Amino acid sequence: MKLQRFILYNLILFSWNLFAQTKSSPMENFAIVMHGGAGAILKKDMPPELEKQYSDKMKEALQAGYDTLKKGGTALSAVEASIKILEDSPLYNAGKGSAFTSDGKNEMDASVMDGKTLKAGAVAGVRTIKNPVSAARMVMEKTPHVLIAGKGAEKIAKENGLEIVDTSYFFVQRRWDQMQKAKKEEKIKLDHSSDTSGSIQPLNDMFNDKKFGTVGAVALDKFGNLAAATSTGGMTNKKPGRVGDSPIIGAGTYANNATCAISCTGHGEYFIRYTVAHDVSALMEYKGLTLEQAANEVVMKKLVAAGGEGGLIGIDSKGNIAMPFNSIGMYRGFAKKDGKISVMIYKDDLPK
Ligand code: ASP
Repeated sequence: MKLQRFILYNLILFSWNLFAQTKSSPMENFAIVMHGGAGAILKKDMPPELEKQYSDKMKEALQAGYDTLKKGGTALSAVEASIKILEDSPLYNAGKGSAFTSDGKNEMDASVMDGKTLKAGAVAGVRTIKNPVSAARMVMEKTPHVLIAGKGAEKIAKENGLEIVDTSYFFVQRRWDQMQKAKKEEKIKLDHSSDTSGSIQPLNDMFNDKKFGTVGAVALDKFGNLAAATSTGGMTNKKPGRVGDSPIIGAGTYANNATCAISCTGHGEYFIRYTVAHDVSALMEYKGLTLEQAANEVVMKKLVAAGGEGGLIGIDSKGNIAMPFNSIGMYRGFAKKDGKISVMIYKDDLPK
């Protein structure tokens, strides 16, 4: 009898310890997914050297996020670290390398969202913050607000010790030439338009190089928390003051531990009107769709029917990922727990 009681006692103790351990020790699953913009990215137009530069930079960014997650960092820190690397590169349309407005300026937008707390931060139309994604995080963590635009955001960034640069830092010749070309084509179109009202199709003109270069990252950390971040220079030849979907929570960025973390890229006006990032989450929450089903529903059906070009990246709390896009290509990649980094550009690229 005594022995039976002893065994029972130890069995209870053992089970309790096991339970306590699983409660406090982090889940070991973690992953990061990134995009570097969607659009008509064709292999035939891409010099191999440039393709390599884009891929290498994306790998470097994924590696930074992966390293953060591996050593127990938060999903929020991982997406910020990854995005900063692409913001610092002139290749991608975010930070250095941002697109120009029609009056020749760089106006950048960025946002972050924490899936655990549903807290979010964003900046819009900033011109002197070297890493807008960090300013977005600052808005979330140091102010009672979600979105701060222009000079107000720059002031907060400066006060909180973020690096402030001269506006000339963001100048990249290739982007300038793209803007000049877009402007010229808009004018040609106006000159030859039979429509005397002058109502051209400015959005199509803006996308004349058919490439959206926004950058985004979503991550799942070892503690089961999700986060998303997006950063962009916006559209080439956009009107001064125009703000796209990237800093709009629920449109370009969304994260909720109960569903998924999403970052979008594409024709921002559509992503705002169709509240794309939150729509994916809502389909999971209310209709019980998987991440992949929900993301495909929004990107490949709703957006396609509406004429909204672009794509998104998503991750759920189990580490499932989705990367649908309805454009010709999308810079994208992921790193999972095993440390293998995959980067893809074209439609038929498989993870490698
Ligand atoms: N969505 C961005 C915007 O409309 C553009 C992009 O994704 O490249 O500003």
